[in-house]
Amino acid sequence: MRKWLRCVAVIDLPRTLTTLLGTFGPLCERCLAHHAWMTLSLVAATLDDLRQTPAIRTERALCPRCGQFTQTFWLAETHEEGYGESR
Ligand SMILES: [Zn+2]
Repeated sequence: MRKWLRCVAVIDLPRTLTTLLGTFGPLCERCLAHHAWMTLSLVAATLDDLRQTPAIRTERALCPRCGQFTQTFWLAETHEEGYGESR
């Protein structure tokens, strides 16, 4: 099972991270790396890409997992219309 998860993480990093955020709620970079079995730098690079999309929101906040005040990531609620359409 763990091997399978790791395999998925390597294949589709953005989806893995968004799935984790959907499962665990808000997480910091370090906790995401821990749960995704990925290195911090890999998570940081993937989050950098995800940050360009409306799917992920970031804010300096207390991570509910480790209790650190740091950059925390969570899934944006995109059910509402009118977000991301500037033109
Ligand atoms: Zn954390």
